[in-house]
Amino acid sequence: MTLFVTVLLDKGIKKALTYSVPDHLRSLIAEGKRVSVPIQKRSVKGTILSLLNKAPRYPVKDVMEVISEEIINDDLKKLGSWMSDYYATALPFVLKTMLPGSLRKDMKVKKQYTVNTVLRGEKLIEYTASIREKHPKRAAVLDILLKNKKGIFLSKLVEKDVSVSAIHTLEKKGIIKKSLVEVDRSILEDVPFFKTSAKVLNAPQAKAFKEIEASLEANTFKTFLLHGITGSGKTEVYLQAIEKALSQNKGVILLIPEIALTEQTVERFKHRFEDRIAVLNYRLSDGEKTDAWKNIAKGKIPIVIGARSAIFSPMPNVGLIIVDEEHELSYKQIDEMPCYNARDIAVVRGSFTGSTVILGSATPSLESVYNVMEKKYHYLQMNQRAAAKNPPTIKLINMEEERENGKGFTMLSQTLLTEIKKRIDVGEQVILFLNRRGYFSCQVCSSCNETISCPSCDSSLTYHRGEKILACHLCGYEKKAPITKCPKCGERETLKYKGPGTEQVERSLHAIFPEIRTLRMDRDTTKHKGSHETILKEFRSGKADLLIGTQMIAKGLDFPLVTLSAVIGADSSLHIPDYRSTESLFQVMTQVVGRSGRAELPGLALIQTYYTNHPVMQAVLNDDFKGFIKAELEDRKLCNYPPYTKICKLVFTSTDKIAAEKTAENFYNYLKVSLPKTVTLYKPMPCGYAKIKDKFRFQILLKSPHTGQLCSILKNHPIKIPTKVRFLIDIGATSTFS
Ligand code: ADP
Ligand code: ZN
Repeated sequence: MTLFVTVLLDKGIKKALTYSVPDHLRSLIAEGKRVSVPIQKRSVKGTILSLLNKAPRYPVKDVMEVISEEIINDDLKKLGSWMSDYYATALPFVLKTMLPGSLRKDMKVKKQYTVNTVLRGEKLIEYTASIREKHPKRAAVLDILLKNKKGIFLSKLVEKDVSVSAIHTLEKKGIIKKSLVEVDRSILEDVPFFKTSAKVLNAPQAKAFKEIEASLEANTFKTFLLHGITGSGKTEVYLQAIEKALSQNKGVILLIPEIALTEQTVERFKHRFEDRIAVLNYRLSDGEKTDAWKNIAKGKIPIVIGARSAIFSPMPNVGLIIVDEEHELSYKQIDEMPCYNARDIAVVRGSFTGSTVILGSATPSLESVYNVMEKKYHYLQMNQRAAAKNPPTIKLINMEEERENGKGFTMLSQTLLTEIKKRIDVGEQVILFLNRRGYFSCQVCSSCNETISCPSCDSSLTYHRGEKILACHLCGYEKKAPITKCPKCGERETLKYKGPGTEQVERSLHAIFPEIRTLRMDRDTTKHKGSHETILKEFRSGKADLLIGTQMIAKGLDFPLVTLSAVIGADSSLHIPDYRSTESLFQVMTQVVGRSGRAELPGLALIQTYYTNHPVMQAVLNDDFKGFIKAELEDRKLCNYPPYTKICKLVFTSTDKIAAEKTAENFYNYLKVSLPKTVTLYKPMPCGYAKIKDKFRFQILLKSPHTGQLCSILKNHPIKIPTKVRFLIDIGATSTFS
């Protein structure tokens, strides 16, 4: 019999507090349940962490109320404490990340009015007939109810164009009645489904699937790295693996990088599994999220699809976890602790639950390839396109030559323009990638070299021609454009625009080909919810010849009419001083190349660059993944970067520059004397973006082959962090720059 519990409060105190359990609540108490408890004179909500049988040595107060069913199951509890240690984050913050915010708000159950008849069967038919002539409007209401024998939502009834006063009259007369009933908000929208059936797997798919199937049957933990080139049919393998897991009554979690960009993929899963899926996306309201969460916890929904936080879905019987595009950096939380990587959490949760884990990608991360070499993951390869006859032809275009042959600087090479024209003429489609949005990425004074920058950030302002503004891409600051006088030297007409972006390229294309129909997809055109889907739908239905965009267009798009894809400019990322920039560039270029020629029509991919001989360009040109990995691993080893070490980044931010810097110094001095010899410690320095939104930022970098001891030193530090300084620990940092 439980007499005492420890409770973690939602707000304030970070330690769990002890409370006694009054008699009448004893049967309801369990770990993970939500309760309200008294603190001073208020009632505060929290989560039960543990049950105690011994009274503490000090007097404690009673738990006031048990609010809801259990929401953290055993494997999540275990995962929570593992994360707390590994990411050096206090447990309450880990739990806050694991539970959807909506649950902590304790949503009210949603109720909706339904209308039923009081009179039934023959009697109702007779009554309706008797009033039809005199009161046709009332009869119309009853006609609908005769067709909906289980009742109908009042809102639906009103939508059917019936008279509201007729409804009231019938209710007053006692013929019908209204009642409030609970509704389940997680029910999928009423979309007509065309259920698809499994495809016959081709040889490489079948080989991969067979190994996955065997692992599912063995009911033990195993991680696969599924390396399948773009278009090799990874999704079909996932679908059949899920089918198999469901037949064993296992729960499935499928992570995808960004829901908004992968609508097409999500549709494929919905079509195959219909209502057995919960899609946790940004469009769900808090109430819908809460309901979905509860249904998942009860085991009512066996498949969950979502972005990184879906890895914490409270499935009671997880058996298969799939991480699509495992190399994507959006799986890593970087701005809030715990700075977890959902891909890594997938593997850990898999090991706790004896699950089969599939990490899929056309361009696996170096970490995952390394884990294959270390025999931690099993390698599966699919290097044949499933629906297309041939891979696209790839060509590099030397922009240096282009500049010499042409009339100076240009964004669009002659070859690219010629190929675009061919596509417009025959009604095929084009995808263009550029890693810069806006019209021009900065304005520089030709007299004194001053760059117009954001007053609050360490960043230049980008010119957006459509809106006639200069905008900061870090904080959203806007200023009316154009600026005609240099703020530093005061010269007029000396400010020149540099670094063309997507908006500028789109405009140039219209000037060259007046008949071209274009769509642009970047953060500017997708500010509104649902705009991604609209743009992609329009492109799919052939409303445009060409889609231009940033990173967003590189992900998983499958358009059969696209026969040309091109990288207009990506060289600038070679200059970013970050250990991952080459890997990221290789990944995005390979993805862009893979958008072309995905069906019957042969594809062409063009890459414009000033560095045709750069190893990463050659690797993309020759489709040489192995060569790229080998060269990159050598570089990483030489400089002691991941996967040969783990990078930890400590970030100190404050509007008070001195306070941030001083705190970083103090922390550095503490680390200098407490760290083991195996850890390399770097002096505090300003972050790559030294100021964002008026907050100054300093960082300390650490490199360590193992994280265990390091994490406990970080977690239990004695340094007093002033309230005005924000302190963040990022274990396994994916960037040393930003
Ligand atoms: P990936 O995710 O690996 O890039 P997809 O799963 O999108 O590839 O598959 C590419 C295309 O091939 C899709 O149009 C898909 O429907 C088709 N496809 C996949 N597997 C098969 C198969 N076994 N037979 C025929 N077509 C297939
Ligand atoms: Zn700014």
